[in-house]
Amino acid sequence: MNKENVLYLVIPCYNEEEMLDITTKELTKKMNDLIASKKISSNSKVMYVDDGSKDATWSLISKYHEANPLFTGIKLSRNKGHQNALLAGLMTAKKYADITISMDADLQDDINVIDKMLDEYNNGSEIVYGVRSSRKKDSFFKRFTAQSFYKLMRLMGVEIVFNHADCRLMSKKALDGLEEFDEVNLFLRGIVPQIGYKTSVAYYERNKRVAGKSKYPFKKMLKFAIDGITSFSVKPLRLITSLGFIMSIFSFAILIYSLVVKLCGNTVTGWTFIVCSIWLVAGIQLLSLGVIGEYVGKIYMEVKHRPKYIIEKELD
Ligand code: UDP
Ligand code: MG
Repeated sequence: MNKENVLYLVIPCYNEEEMLDITTKELTKKMNDLIASKKISSNSKVMYVDDGSKDATWSLISKYHEANPLFTGIKLSRNKGHQNALLAGLMTAKKYADITISMDADLQDDINVIDKMLDEYNNGSEIVYGVRSSRKKDSFFKRFTAQSFYKLMRLMGVEIVFNHADCRLMSKKALDGLEEFDEVNLFLRGIVPQIGYKTSVAYYERNKRVAGKSKYPFKKMLKFAIDGITSFSVKPLRLITSLGFIMSIFSFAILIYSLVVKLCGNTVTGWTFIVCSIWLVAGIQLLSLGVIGEYVGKIYMEVKHRPKYIIEKELD
């Protein structure tokens, strides 16, 4: 019914040498099936993005490319993080593809979701979010931290699709929209819903990582969450204002209290109270300064307009 679309699977890879052989085998099968059943054009490709890996990742990618034109890749000049690697891949793929689907190299996201996403695309969606139907196979720690992350983002007023990571289909039109966003602090999960167009959701099972380790230790996850909130929400700043307001009312009450105590002639007893208030106020001030600093840092980074990534090599 419709013309066969060129699909590019965009896969960021950081030190994934243990995983890539398995991934390549699975994806070859999947892509060949899709091409054979005429769901996608035979010009479709798998694009690996080497995010400045320190292991054999890039030589493996070049090897797959030599062996099979289905595989292609780009190599970033250094490690720029998952989000930037993904963006580099998407913007490169946009030149050749009608549709892109982004996925992690560890195939924790069930690849059969590709079929569901293509169906949604054919129904007119420009963006299809892959959403995890359950996290039973994640460790308790990962599940807990990830779910708290989504809840916190919602609480802070960031528009974000629950349990949707970066597994998503985006049409060329949606990618053109994404290109208009010029921020350096890149948080794709927050930006993509801002693009608009018709969107839909495809559910899949989240599996365990088969080989290699998670490249997202707790420290990186925390940074990701803080970046996400401060790039999209001014609620933390408003919280400070409310806190300041409550503190003023509180100190007014204290003022009346101390006047009463003074009038009763018991002034020496104030020592504990003074020490406590000094610590409390100093703590709140420091916290507030920290949050403000986070935003100042963001402004600082944005005005620099540094390139988000530099592509070192591109396979033809
Ligand atoms: N990744 C990347 N650059 C980084 C960290 C991770 O390109 O600096 C890639 C990684 O190779 C994988 C994806 O991002 O394809 C998700 O990472 P991982 O599976 O380790 O995260 P988790 O599933 O544990 O959240
Ligand atoms: Mg993973």
